[in-house]
Amino acid sequence: MKVTDYFKKSKDTLCSFEILPPLKGGKMQDIFDTLDPLMEFKPPFVDVTYHREEFVYMKRDSGYYEKSSIRKRPGTVGICAAIMHRYGVDAVPHLICGGFSKEETENALIDLNFLNIQNVLALRGDARHFEDKFVPEPDGHKFASELVEQVSQMNQGKYLDASIENGSSTDFCIGIAGYPEKHFESPNIDHDMSFTKLKIEKGASYIVTQMFFDNKHFFKYVDACRAAGITVPIVPGLKPLTKRYQLNSIPRRFYIDLPDDLVHEVEKAKGQDALNMVGTEWCIQQSKELKAAGVPCLHYYTMGDTPTIKRIAESIF
Ligand code: FAD
Repeated sequence: MKVTDYFKKSKDTLCSFEILPPLKGGKMQDIFDTLDPLMEFKPPFVDVTYHREEFVYMKRDSGYYEKSSIRKRPGTVGICAAIMHRYGVDAVPHLICGGFSKEETENALIDLNFLNIQNVLALRGDARHFEDKFVPEPDGHKFASELVEQVSQMNQGKYLDASIENGSSTDFCIGIAGYPEKHFESPNIDHDMSFTKLKIEKGASYIVTQMFFDNKHFFKYVDACRAAGITVPIVPGLKPLTKRYQLNSIPRRFYIDLPDDLVHEVEKAKGQDALNMVGTEWCIQQSKELKAAGVPCLHYYTMGDTPTIKRIAESIF
């Protein structure tokens, strides 16, 4: 079923989880170990992130540098199929522009459609570690809006090869990313919003936000979207902060602010257990307020920390 149909059908706030495919050598069981304990909260869908392969250059004994692949994770298609089969829930693969030509994207969409996967989250992806800006493939998409357009075209039976007449139409529900504290490359929030709007005009039908730790950012963002004429459901993305180093790594990696109160609580916490309590309790309070405000769904970034996410979900659902 489409993600947006779940929202239409449900009177209450739903919950959903996002998982990362395991690093190379990992097994499907790793995913099941993450998800099994969370299924009691009846998420109608689970998102599966996509990660480009990253490379480093290693100096060998010969003195030459050799290109070596690190951080290779399995692709999402098989993982989504396995999740749907095991749990009977919908799986939402993340599709990115980076590393894909339009043709490879089309092939991936054909596979997803074949497996009856009806939802995709369409994203641009980030620059690779050794590049200072995002570089699309020669025949790839530069922005997520172009990817959304390609999926929308397939939904109308239009494939890349224009000679294919009356191609069978897919029926993907397309989600996109939104940034309550703006995307880091954007000069300002209005500029960013205009491209979010473009993604909706090209056919996206819901937004999942970047994580935030102050709900005011989310509420302001929803108001700004509505004022810009964006009417689609907006799903808040949430992640608990449970490690001291995240005080620096989260702002650096996700370009978001952490509220003073949270920073002070984390600094005061003595030991990992106390820190876990602070981060978990903060996320519970955020979730409660968002649920009371009637958001369609609370979307939790699990990032492999099932016990914490489970504790949060137990307090909310
Ligand atoms: P876009 O919508 O293309 O926007 C990128 C930037 O370009 C923005 O600053 C935007 O304002 C600007 N822009 C857009 N269109 C135009 C235009 N036509 N002209 C000029 N400027 C324009 N990354 C992954 O690699 N894998 C994942 O699985 C993944 N999952 C994510 C899930 C969520 C919920 C979120 C919030 C992010 C996720 N990301 C993932 C990260 C995402 O790929 C990055 O944030 C990326 O930098 C931007 O992606 P986007 O889809 O928002 O890009």
